[in-house]
Amino acid sequence: MELKLLVSELANFLQVGKFQDYCPNGLQVEGRPHVQHILSGVTASQSLIDAAIEMNVDAILVHHGYFWRGEVAEITGMKKQRLKSLLNYDISLLAYHLPLDAHPVVGNNVQLGLQMGWTVSHYLDERNMLPVTELAQVNSLEVVSEHLAQCLQRQPLVLGDLSRPVRTVAWCTGAAQQYIQQAIDAGVDLFISGEVSEQTYHAVTESNTAYIAAGHHATERYGVQALGRWLAEKHGISHQYFEIKNPI
Ligand SMILES: [Zn+2]
Repeated sequence: MELKLLVSELANFLQVGKFQDYCPNGLQVEGRPHVQHILSGVTASQSLIDAAIEMNVDAILVHHGYFWRGEVAEITGMKKQRLKSLLNYDISLLAYHLPLDAHPVVGNNVQLGLQMGWTVSHYLDERNMLPVTELAQVNSLEVVSEHLAQCLQRQPLVLGDLSRPVRTVAWCTGAAQQYIQQAIDAGVDLFISGEVSEQTYHAVTESNTAYIAAGHHATERYGVQALGRWLAEKHGISHQYFEIKNPI
């Protein structure tokens, strides 16, 4: 498939134009003009690039790419090494941040829900970034957190009384702990995101909403894989996902 066509198909599917983001969404680094093999990962780190070089893929597909708003513009150190590796081997970098969080089919949020067996009943926000599910049966916070640990293969940090009943759950993948206030305002029993802040503890202690930090990497590894599967099914591109053991 032509790289240009691939980029426009992805832009259409993910509705890239609808988002105001902190980074460019789409082709961040241009490589070979034709793409047949893609390696995906959560973040365009050096280890992902090294794996891509070893596997001789044409493009890398990630959720966390480069060129974030506010970052230093100079191409030195780690950034130089990453870009040099990509350019030397003519490998494209395709990155989708918010469009890949919010997508109704392959998005990180919906895909995390699928891992847990949760269907979205509604959203707390207009951007569809904060899905809510009503659990089929009321479980304790402890049972829900154990289920999460099993699904994500990672021990989460749980804030709240473990015996408290949980019926409604809202979530947002990545570093979205600040949205706990919206979950509290909506009267949701539990809010889940990837990371945690010092003030999250107090927000939980002084409200009726529990919180689980389930890992930024762990909660955001499913969208890019679903997008890769879509590319394989719809466009016949071979796709593999590369997992990195990031504990954060
Ligand atoms: Zn993220």
